[in-house]
Formats: sequence, C-alpha cells, structure tokens
Amino acid sequence: MSKFQIGKDISNKQTLALPIRQSTYRQIIFPCHLGIISIGNVSTSMLNKLRFHLDQAFDSFFFDIQFIEDTNLHPDMFELGVKEEYNLLNKSSEKVLLQPTNKFYEIIVDKKFEYNFDIGVGLTNLPIYSSSNENLLFLFGEAHIKYMCAIVSTHNLIDLFNPENHKLKKIERRIYKEVIHEIGHLILDCGHCLNDYCVMRFSKNIKEIDSKSIYLCEKCKLKLEKVRERNNF
Ligand SMILES: [Zn+2]
Ligand SMILES: [Zn+2]
Repeated sequence: MSKFQIGKDISNKQTLALPIRQSTYRQIIFPCHLGIISIGNVSTSMLNKLRFHLDQAFDSFFFDIQFIEDTNLHPDMFELGVKEEYNLLNKSSEKVLLQPTNKFYEIIVDKKFEYNFDIGVGLTNLPIYSSSNENLLFLFGEAHIKYMCAIVSTHNLIDLFNPENHKLKKIERRIYKEVIHEIGHLILDCGHCLNDYCVMRFSKNIKEIDSKSIYLCEKCKLKLEKVRERNNF
C-alpha cells in the first residue's frame, strides 16, 4: 500500500513537529543529490543493486546517490505516536507496533540538511502507518512532496505465509520497485499510473508489486523527459 500526497501540509495532524528549515522548501534543480537512509535493521547488501536500478529508472537525474547506514530510532522516540495493530496483510495473529510516517520524515529531513541531499528516502524494517491518515496501516511506502522525502518499509514486503515468496531476490526486487515508485512521485510530481506494468502503479499487496515491472511506462517516461527539459539537462 502506498500513499501519495500532493502539496498537502501534513503538519496539521502531526503529533511530532517537523523541523522547519529554509533548505527544506527549496525548489529542486535536477540533476540532484539523492540520499538513501537506512533506519533500523535494513540489509545493506542490496544497496549497490538499488543504485543500479535507480540509474536505470531515472538515468542522469542524480549526480550522486549516497547511502547513510545505521540510523536507529532513538529509544525516547521509538514509543512516540506508535499504534498497536494486527497485521492483516500477512494474517499474523500477533499485534505489532506501527510507527507514524512523520517520525521518519523528521529523521530524513535532518539527514537531508546534514548531508546536503535534495531528496531523502528512508528505508526501514519497521511497520509504518500514515500520519496524515491514520487508517492507512502497514504502508509499503509514502512520499511527501513538500519535504521532498519518502519512506519505504520492508516490513510487509516479506510474505510470512508464503515460503515461496521468501526468496531474498524476490524481496529485494520489491524493495527496488517501491523505492523507485516513491522517488517517481517526488520527481514526476504525479499520482498513480493506470498501466498494469508501470512501476508507478498503486500496489495494494505484494502480489501486485510482483506483477508490475521495475520500469516506468512510456507515458511516465515522457513525464520524466518533460522534467528533464524544464531543467535543461
Ligand atoms: Zn504511490
Ligand atoms: Zn506509468
């Protein structure tokens, strides 16, 4: 499940205040600097392949892609705003603690400032819910246009009840798709694509993620080219 927000100020409903920094609102000029920040326990073995797929999807849109590892939620922050819910997507009988997306945005915005990233994407193993719509639980990812950041959760990309789906390569491919999908929202400034095979299609479960490709469709590629033209590169 993925949620897209266009120019929506989610701070109204936030339990956490996002830091307001001048650089946060600056208009992005492409090519730009992308930062991928792992928050929690995320395998870093796939990062090189992720870089490859990002280059494939967005070509020369990033002059640099930097990975920041080992960022953990501060123990004081962990409990803040958490929701305890049953995970209906993988039929788990146990309740799990879900983290609000704005908690990650706060960390990512900080890292963006620290490392001078134009776009920041967080990768976490923790389950997440949308802080702008608390009914959206166990999201695969969410993008925030205003803050030019996104979060992808690997939690529900692992199908616990289907051993066939447990293969690492399959899980990694889902992660690549979801990261590309969220960055697609940020760069193209658009919603979901209706093309069944486009990576920008909305996926409500992992089966739908598996059935879509890792690529942008021709229509979405055209949008990407328009952004390129506007930025003269
Ligand atoms: Zn989406
Ligand atoms: Zn498309």
